[in-house]
Amino acid sequence: MDRNSRICIVGGGPAGLSLAMYLEKNGFDHYTIFERSGRVGGKAFSPLMKVKNSKGEWEDRTIEMGAVMGCDTYFAVHECEEFGHTSHADGPQMGRRFMNTDGTPIKESKLGLLKKVMKMRKLNHLLATKYKGYDVNGHRGVAQGRYEGPCPSPQMKLAHIEGENPNLKDLSMPFSEFLKLNDCEDAELVWKGPFTSFGYGYFDEIPAAYVLKYLDAFTVKQFLSTGRLWTWKNGTNSIWTGVNSALRHPANLNSEVTAVRRTEDHVYVRVNGGEEQEFDKLVICTPLEMFTSYGDATEQERELFGKIQHKEYFTMAVRTEEEKSPDISYYYFANMTPETRGHLMVFYHRWPDAGAQPLVTFTLRNHEGAEDVPFDEARDTTLSDMAKSGLPVMKTERIDDWYYFPHVSSADYADGWYDKVEALQGERNTYFAGEVMSFGDMEETAEYSRDLVRRFFH
Ligand SMILES: Cc1cc2nc3c(=O)[nH]c(=O)nc-3n(C[C@H](O)[C@H](O)[C@H](O)COP(=O)(O)OP(=O)(O)OC[C@H]3O[C@@H](n4cnc5c(N)ncnc54)[C@H](O)[C@@H]3O)c2cc1C
Repeated sequence: MDRNSRICIVGGGPAGLSLAMYLEKNGFDHYTIFERSGRVGGKAFSPLMKVKNSKGEWEDRTIEMGAVMGCDTYFAVHECEEFGHTSHADGPQMGRRFMNTDGTPIKESKLGLLKKVMKMRKLNHLLATKYKGYDVNGHRGVAQGRYEGPCPSPQMKLAHIEGENPNLKDLSMPFSEFLKLNDCEDAELVWKGPFTSFGYGYFDEIPAAYVLKYLDAFTVKQFLSTGRLWTWKNGTNSIWTGVNSALRHPANLNSEVTAVRRTEDHVYVRVNGGEEQEFDKLVICTPLEMFTSYGDATEQERELFGKIQHKEYFTMAVRTEEEKSPDISYYYFANMTPETRGHLMVFYHRWPDAGAQPLVTFTLRNHEGAEDVPFDEARDTTLSDMAKSGLPVMKTERIDDWYYFPHVSSADYADGWYDKVEALQGERNTYFAGEVMSFGDMEETAEYSRDLVRRFFH
């Protein structure tokens, strides 16, 4: 591709910013990022709130309303950190306690723990052998039993691997079916905490491919020992403001792409309803189904993007009475079932060195094929769950209701949805990136941008 191509990037979240960084590294300097909101980072959102420090003084500290953590397999995010001069070395250490819904701690026997680890071993062995290639970023070829792309290597960096493995077709099944097929049902216990409570849905609905590409054997182990997890003192948002400031062309803020018209040779983009601006290439880094509302989507694009589903997930920053303030995050496993959707699954206590601070609650309120719990009802239920747990909420500081984890159903996955979309890459001078192309976390998203640049922008 001509390195002078004028490239329009729609969306200044992790996908759009990492894409710009990799373009720059690959010698493409004529790019423009349009970001609808007044800040970059998208769902990595870390506003300042009042926290009481160890001296008893109130001070402003970041509270995570969106993305929270990373781990040692965050290779692309680490490249973004280096580029933007940020580091996860300064973040508060994570800790957690598993609780019953009445606020009493769950007692887990050592034998129970050992059994869990054994179940994990069995699945991990199958993943390394029968399902070789399962942890490649993105979903190209999986439904046809192929793999190709970046993957964590034993040297703890990203390697490129490719090959054929017909067993990979099993990854389109819902995760619980996949576990049953492999006689590993108990592994659900290990995977559920970092999957369902983080809003990614329930194992009877979500294809195994999403679960295992995000929580590969290594990453899931890191989640089990919270001490290994990465956090950022200035919040996950600081990774992306760092990248943005280091880019030669930082994102244009408050710039919503409101129309796109594509001809044979060019792409014409309107921002905030203004004059058309001409580009040579377009990269969509907003949710793809949104492209159908602001872009000149073809019938095929409409049909494919219309199949994308998402999760209804919201976070609330709440304050309890100061004397009742807990000192660690709580996980409520009993609330991580499809039947208890709309209930409190986790709250995040971010600053272990501080006293009173907002706790961030996490609630998922939809399940494929079932009725959504209305937002108001789920909000009230979450607040009463806090009270039931002995932590009545005195004040709700803010609520963020997220368009979360775009993905496709097992049936569409098996039907080759990803190969159909991948076949469109580059058609009409348009490329597709962002969460749905890989998985709804910062690393998979940034890795996908990295690989998209490798595949097409050279
Ligand atoms: C509560 C929560 C917890 C999470 N926890 C974690 C975690 O612990 N670790 C982790 O790695 N990830 C986590 N994530 C997920 C992570 O934040 C997302 O996967 C990541 O932000 C996706 O990046 P993206 O760029 O694809 O999309 P987004 O972050 O959604 O960014 C898309 C951007 O496009 C902009 N946009 C939309 N339409 C237009 C338009 N027409 N014109 C211009 N701009 C437009 C939006 O304003 C937005 O900034 C969490 C997310 C949430 C909400």
